[in-house]
Formats: sequence, C-alpha cells, structure tokens
Amino acid sequence: MKFRFFMIVGALAFLASCASVRNPVTGQYERTVMDERSELQAGQKGHQEILKEYRALENPALQAYVNSVGQRLAKSSQRATLEWHFTVLDSPEVNAFALPGGYVYITRGILAYLNDEAELAGVLGHEIGHVTARHASQRATRQQAAGVGVLLANVLGAVLENKGYSGAGDLTNQVSQIGAAGYITSYGREQELQSDQLGAEYLAKNHYDSARMIDVIRMLKNQEQFSQEIARSEGRTVPPRANWLASHPSSDKRLEDIRQTALLHHDPKAASGREAFLKAIDGITFGESREEGVTRGQQFFHEPMGFALTAPTGWRIQNTSSELTLINGTGDAALIMRTVPAEAGTTHADIVQKIFNPINGRTAQTTINGFAATYFVGTARVQSGGQTGTQSVDATILTGPKQQNYLFLHAAKSAEALQRERETLLAAEKTFRALTDKDRLLARPWKIRLAVFPQGGFAQLVKRSAATLPHAEAQLRLINGAYPDGVIKAGTQVKIVE
Ligand SMILES: [Zn+2]
Repeated sequence: MKFRFFMIVGALAFLASCASVRNPVTGQYERTVMDERSELQAGQKGHQEILKEYRALENPALQAYVNSVGQRLAKSSQRATLEWHFTVLDSPEVNAFALPGGYVYITRGILAYLNDEAELAGVLGHEIGHVTARHASQRATRQQAAGVGVLLANVLGAVLENKGYSGAGDLTNQVSQIGAAGYITSYGREQELQSDQLGAEYLAKNHYDSARMIDVIRMLKNQEQFSQEIARSEGRTVPPRANWLASHPSSDKRLEDIRQTALLHHDPKAASGREAFLKAIDGITFGESREEGVTRGQQFFHEPMGFALTAPTGWRIQNTSSELTLINGTGDAALIMRTVPAEAGTTHADIVQKIFNPINGRTAQTTINGFAATYFVGTARVQSGGQTGTQSVDATILTGPKQQNYLFLHAAKSAEALQRERETLLAAEKTFRALTDKDRLLARPWKIRLAVFPQGGFAQLVKRSAATLPHAEAQLRLINGAYPDGVIKAGTQVKIVE
C-alpha cells in the first residue's frame, strides 16, 4: 500500500470519429478510433497516470541500462521513428506492459526473475510488439464498436501481463465498485502470440538468440506453477484466474505457440549479456519495498506511515499499491485498508460523508490502541457506469500516526459470510498499532544480491539468504531459472535474496 487512495480512472475525452490507419506490422489498413496522433496523446496522458500509480524506480544506472536495451530493440522495429520511453517501475509485481505511442514499462519485480540481457530484451521486445502492432488501438476500436464504455486504464492498454505470486486477488468483494478497483482487460490470444513473435524477431535482429523468448514465457509459466503450489501448501484452494485473466492465454498455450517461430532464428552461440544484466540489478529490492510496507508472516509493517498490523491465524495478507487486504482462509471475507486523501476531510464525519455519500447509517466512536476511530454501518450511493446505485457499507475510519486517516472496509462475498467473520474482522482491525523499535528491525525489505553458486547446491545457497524468506529454496530456484529441479554448476554467478 502506498500513500495514495483511489486509482484515477475516468472516461477519456473521446475520439468518436473513425479513421483508417496503416498497421506498421501487417502493412494492412485498419479502421480505428485512434490515429497515430491520438495514440501519442493517449500515451502521454497515460504515462502520467502510470507514474502516479506506480512510481519509477530510483536507480538511474538501472534505468539507463534498461532504456539502452529497449531503444536498441525499438530502433530495429517497424516503428523505429517513434519516440520510445522505457521505464522501470518500483513494483514487486511480476509484470511488464505498454501504452500506445511508445511507452514501455517493466517492473523491478520481473527483473528479479530474469537471468540475462537476452531475457530482458525478450520481455521488452514483446511489449514493443504490442505498440508496433497497435494492439491497444485495435482493442479500443472493437470496444467502441461494441458500445462498451471505455475507461482510461483500458483504452490506454495498461494490460498487466502476468498474475505472479503476489499479484491480483481472487476476491470479488462488495466494494469493488466503490472507487476504482481497476478495469483492466487483456489482449487476445492472437495479439499475445503476435507480440511473442515480434519479440523473437527483435531478439534475432539484435544478435540475441530468438529462442530466449521461450525462456521468458517458461519463466512466467513457472511463476504460475509456483503460486499454485504455494496455495496448495497453505491449504488454500488454488486461486481461480482473476476475471481479466480468464481471457488471457495460458503460458502453456503461449509456449506451444511460440516454440516454432522462436526456433527459426535459433543461435545458441549468441551473446546473452548475463554479466551486464546481473551487475545492473545487483542490490534492487526484492518483494515489497519500504514505501509499500512489508509482509512478514502474519505481520505487516509500514515504516514510513509508522504502523503495524497483524492478520488472524490462517488469513493471508495481500499488499497492492492501492490497498492492504487481509483475506480469510476460505476467501469469502476480507478487511480492506486504504489511506484516505486529505481532500476527503479531516473529521471522521466529513470523511464518511465524502467517501460514501450515505443515504442512511449510524456511527459510533471508539479508540484502537490509542488512535481515534469511528465505526460506520449504512447505505452508500455508488456511481457505476454512469448509473447511481446503492451499496451497504460496514467500515471503520481511523486516524493513525502523523494524523493520517485510514479507511477499513469490512468486506464479504455474502451477508452470511460478513456476519460469520465480522468479529474476526474487527479483531484484526484492533491490532493496528504504532510501530515499535522491534517492529522496525523486521520492516527491512529484501534485496537481490549476487553470489557464487556453492558446491552444496541450493540447500547451501538457502543458508546465505534472508531467514525470513518463505519457501526459500523454491524462490531461489525461481529467480535463477532452475525451478522446479534445474541444475546449476558450482562457481556460477547467481542471485540470492538478502
Ligand atoms: Zn502481452
């Protein structure tokens, strides 16, 4: 969770007329609601939104390195004259995405799992492919034609490529319509395949082995497998693919699709750029950062905001850029915590009014570990798709350290689940406390460091890693491309988590 509130999603001032534009990849003319000029405008606008939502990683050397690799690939693409922008985002999500007009993003989360420059180039090349083949514009056009209300995040094509271990949640909750839980759809299978193929093509043009595209997709597949195994080992049901993933082709399918194309320019002797890549990512944060707050077992620590929170036994903590969620074992109830922006008011009464615009409800005052809090139960007015509806709300407003206000939503999939879990939700909320000195020690984020692979294999490498890292051997295997049972030669430079 970061120091912000609702993601800004609004209708893009649109773009009603249709033009015909030549697709740079296929050479065919296609009808579109976005000509090149509106593509650039959308990209520029979206870029500002993305940086508000994610923040660029403060690491000039790494930014310059990623940019140099990206620029080289882009110059060999079908849109070489476009002004390209490559940004590493300070996010633990394992993801990369692109906006129309030449804006490409890659997270520090995915960098930790890549093993060399060729794999980095594979990811960037795939995203460049979405831009050169105008995939976001095609989708916007289709949706416009279908009469679907097009939201900003959607038309801009901020499509997250992968769910990953700490990624999107599986809880459809009662508050998903309040604010913007995010409206993100995926590209179609043909578009993904085309981008994989373009990625492989750009690899070959830049003297990398095109077959490395397969390694990138295999890495995504291993991520999926790992997250499913974690879920199983924790006795959770394997998370169903989130809505927008349902239409996303599985990594298995992509692997099958790309294999032939990628092998066309197979060059096993091509340079991988492993040393330069590892040097560039040495020291980057792994997992949650200090600014987002860190999860350690059932505890959550937010050092900059100065608070800690404990999840009930058997519950899990999900920390995203917009909210912190504690989810029960069966996944049908959750405590959702968000920061309240200063504009929403300073008194709890003002905040309730501003956020919920309630039709009715009652409030009650309390204190939680010395902090003033207000319970609110009532009915809120909700805006959704231009229509006004109502929504029952069960929430707490709390003023924490540094006078920051927080909203706790007691969410559940059904009234029955809410009733069953309400006491536990309130108990979890009551663990909100000011950070102690002891907490501060535990709040230290993990980092990626380089090490020499020991004779004793992964069992020995685990001992060099942070003791707090869960599923340490599997994690170390994943980040070193040796999951689930790959072999690494002793003496090889590898990554550890410190
Ligand atoms: Zn893609």
